[in-house]
Amino acid sequence: MSDCIFCKIINKEIPSEVVYEDEVVLAFKDINPVAPVHVLIIPKKHSESLNDLSPEDEALVGHLIIVATRLAKELGIADSGYRLVNNCGDDGGQVVKHLHFHLIGGKRLGIHIC
Ligand code: 5GP
Ligand code: ZN
Repeated sequence: MSDCIFCKIINKEIPSEVVYEDEVVLAFKDINPVAPVHVLIIPKKHSESLNDLSPEDEALVGHLIIVATRLAKELGIADSGYRLVNNCGDDGGQVVKHLHFHLIGGKRLGIHIC
């Protein structure tokens, strides 16, 4: 997707602070962190949101979550706790229309989910 900001980050057309990369996944620091640790974990294949996924994406989604758990350990927030968040669509608060998970931690997060 040529006009997608996260595809541009994947293609290194826009710089980012990469914390993990493999053939199918990229993880990088959020430009506007809401906590000491705030990383975005995205598939390299463009999908707009969770709504775009099909059964063939099962392994990819599992991999995204496993990467998130590994990063939580590496970034030192696994034991203290963290939040792994997906915003889906406008009512879900999704601004960037490229599927992504937020890995957020390093402080005591609020209990509100809405
Ligand atoms: P959403 O609201 O779509 O779930 O979250 C999008 C996230 O992407 C926001 O937390 C925002 O700060 C982050 N973001 C938007 N543009 C950029 C960018 O160019 N670089 C980085 N690293 N993060 C971005
Ligand atoms: Zn994209």
